[in-house]
Amino acid sequence: MQGYSLVAPAKINLYLEIIGAREDGYHELAMVMQSIDLADQIDITPNGSENIRVQCDNLEVPLDKTNLAYRAAELMAKEFPEQFAKLGGVDIKIHKRIPVAAGLAGGSTNAAAVLVGIDLLWKLGLTKVEIEELGATLGSDVPFCVAGGTAIATGRGEQLAEILGLDNIYIVLGKHLSLSVSTPWAYKTYRATYGDTYPQDNQSLTARASSVHSAPMIKAIVHKNAREISQLLHNDLEKVVLPEYAKVLELREAFASSGALGTMMSGSGPSVFGICESLEHAEKVKQQVRSSIPDEDLELFTTQTISQGIHLKSSI
Ligand code: ATP
Repeated sequence: MQGYSLVAPAKINLYLEIIGAREDGYHELAMVMQSIDLADQIDITPNGSENIRVQCDNLEVPLDKTNLAYRAAELMAKEFPEQFAKLGGVDIKIHKRIPVAAGLAGGSTNAAAVLVGIDLLWKLGLTKVEIEELGATLGSDVPFCVAGGTAIATGRGEQLAEILGLDNIYIVLGKHLSLSVSTPWAYKTYRATYGDTYPQDNQSLTARASSVHSAPMIKAIVHKNAREISQLLHNDLEKVVLPEYAKVLELREAFASSGALGTMMSGSGPSVFGICESLEHAEKVKQQVRSSIPDEDLELFTTQTISQGIHLKSSI
């Protein structure tokens, strides 16, 4: 039986507001998520055994049961035991291009690709919503990564409302190779610092979260106005990450004085992005950031917004 090669794009957050604490212990969030063309490639093939095997060309990525791609395959085997018994396990090869632990949903997009890949391999015919629901049990960012594009994400980040795609906006992205920020640490620190400002009841929590639907950022996206989007970028997690991580602050400041239209940290960091007018502008911004921080540990990428999530590259 044939396998599939899938493209698994990263995401950035154009907007991330922490609304408050939920009864289940998670935070209620209001976010605008955006896919970019910086992507991993996931090759998934049946292996005729009872095992799920993961390979990756980046040594930072675990190959055991803690890998989110592995967990996605394990979930499919559990949910669809007949197909698993009949068709066997899978080999998953991850060609990693997305920086790891960067706030770019690298693991989540790999998991989303495995869900889509196994749906194809086992001819399950699942709908997008069914795949997103399975993804939500693996992690809050997984559902968005399935269809990608541009979406408002509320709840823990798993409740999605798609917006008209925002493609071809140039983005420069920076991340220090040796630096990572723990997402649980960032949220825990935010709660310890700002917890006393959270709304006290569920009703005001959901009302505030859903107000993002009518926010100026959404209008700017609908009008594809890169300048306005750049002025409206927001990420509450900057308030705890920037004071703690001098290198992220330095990178954020380098972008702010680079001539980019706007800049923001993505997710819990440490990656920082700048929005640009054109490819030429992006190259200038990249050079400017590089000359402010001539550290070899800093990786810089030129990428673009795209209006799709997991998609098929080829059969293999
Ligand atoms: P998010 O933006 O969803 O918070 P992230 O981009 O910050 O995620 P990941 O790249 O997903 O972070 O990596 C977080 C941790 O998850 C890593 O330290 C790594 O050990 C682990 N991990 C598990 N599976 C994967 C995977 N397939 N790719 C990358 N990291 C993985």
